[in-house]
Amino acid sequence: MDGQRVYPGDRLASAEEYGAGDGAFGDGGAVLSAVVGTGSVSAEDRTVGAAGPQLPVPRAGDLIVGEVAATLASRMAVAIRYVNGRPVTNNVECMLATRNIRMRLIALVGDIVALRITGTLNGDIHATIGEPQLGVLFTRCRKCGGRVMLKRDVVKCVECGWVDERKLSSDYGKAGFIGLP
Ligand SMILES: [Zn+2]
Repeated sequence: MDGQRVYPGDRLASAEEYGAGDGAFGDGGAVLSAVVGTGSVSAEDRTVGAAGPQLPVPRAGDLIVGEVAATLASRMAVAIRYVNGRPVTNNVECMLATRNIRMRLIALVGDIVALRITGTLNGDIHATIGEPQLGVLFTRCRKCGGRVMLKRDVVKCVECGWVDERKLSSDYGKAGFIGLP
């Protein structure tokens, strides 16, 4: 793979043979690329890495803020806008598996959510919403699109009165959280 084009999540080497160098991370038994770029092998320090036009890819443990792009039966696609508070512009999406979340409605398309990245698998970046801080930071009424206000653990539309649930972040309604729009 030395000199080859690689993408985030591409396998660069076995973790038994090589360590993760710049632009790479270890995931179980493999070293994977964290960037879109060119793979490189350093025989000297026995690492593999990847370098290229720097398109930062969120790594496990990163806190992201993004916009819900699509909601499917068992997962949600979120377009990442901030990684650890820094704006990103390369339209990377992460996946949130929702089948184990016991809520009818977690978030709507267009909602702003905070998630934590759990890792990369098969080219997808995966995230979790299972911490108090994580969840919806901004939403609108499902019925009329109006502004909503927090009522204990639900949201209520100030226009039409519709009451609805969301997986709300404990930071919901707090101004200035990670430079929100
Ligand atoms: Zn409404």
